[in-house]
Amino acid sequence: MPELLVVGSVALDTIRTPFGKADEVLGGSATFFSYSASFFTTVRLVAVVGADFPQAHLDLLARRGVDLGGLQVADGPTFRWAGEYGYDLNEAKTLDTRLGVFADFHPALPDAFRRTPFLFLANIDPELQLDVLRKVERPRLVALDTMNFWIQGQRDALRRVLAKVDAFVVNDSEARMLTEEPNLVKAARRILGYGPRIVVIKRGEYGALMVTEGRFFFVPAFPLDAVFDPTGAGDTFAGGFMGSLARAGRLDEAALRRAIVYGSVMASFTVEDFSLNRLLRLTDREIQDRYQTFREMMRLDD
Ligand code: AMP
Repeated sequence: MPELLVVGSVALDTIRTPFGKADEVLGGSATFFSYSASFFTTVRLVAVVGADFPQAHLDLLARRGVDLGGLQVADGPTFRWAGEYGYDLNEAKTLDTRLGVFADFHPALPDAFRRTPFLFLANIDPELQLDVLRKVERPRLVALDTMNFWIQGQRDALRRVLAKVDAFVVNDSEARMLTEEPNLVKAARRILGYGPRIVVIKRGEYGALMVTEGRFFFVPAFPLDAVFDPTGAGDTFAGGFMGSLARAGRLDEAALRRAIVYGSVMASFTVEDFSLNRLLRLTDREIQDRYQTFREMMRLDD
């Protein structure tokens, strides 16, 4: 039985980085997430695209075994995002967000989807995240992502959904924006007070920090000598994190730590090329190799 359900955006992205540009390429939070998670477990996707969305993109997900039974094709344009990065690749500047068919999307969950043990509410309108949460039977673990666009525009709905989830996976700048707290340790503690018992703060090239009640775990980013395009790193991280937990079927501290490392491993591949291009040529062997390198990097002998 499929283990992981995701609701989020499936998008066409236009991206500028100091190293190149890409127009209308495959993107979206649910896309990166599900492709990444598919290396670990079976995934069901809930989203909407317009009739203008290339079938070839959907075929890529279907070929990884992603169940597209919850993907609607609606009249109207696909969600489009345009973003730009300077030499500090940690911060995306949004140039344009066009919701298109997401503006009046009502997720319809196939009956079979309602009982999926792991749920990821990827970056999308928090009202849609709440809607999906109402439609599922209580999963074993619900995790949530968001971004500045929704923190600014939908703060109340976001706080309502935060109160109902187990884990929150968020960027450092967005954690600061949400809590109005510049110190990340304090920001994480404040978020724990909002509801989730696991807070994961992604810090781009500085790694990721997990805070649970009274405990911290930190992983560095994989030391890459070339980062090309960070778009999707966060969602790919979340895909590795949730995929690893679903595959393990455990939520203890050791499983959570391993999941953070797998998240970091997966994100390190995505940033090496535009769109999903690096993931498309990724092998299980490469994932295992980087996982071992992480273990080695983090080892202390005394
Ligand atoms: P990240 O992993 O944070 O780099 O997410 C990048 C992806 O998020 C891109 O492929 C975009 O299509 C998607 N995205 C950007 N803005 C939004 C938004 N407001 N809601 C949902 N998805 C978005």
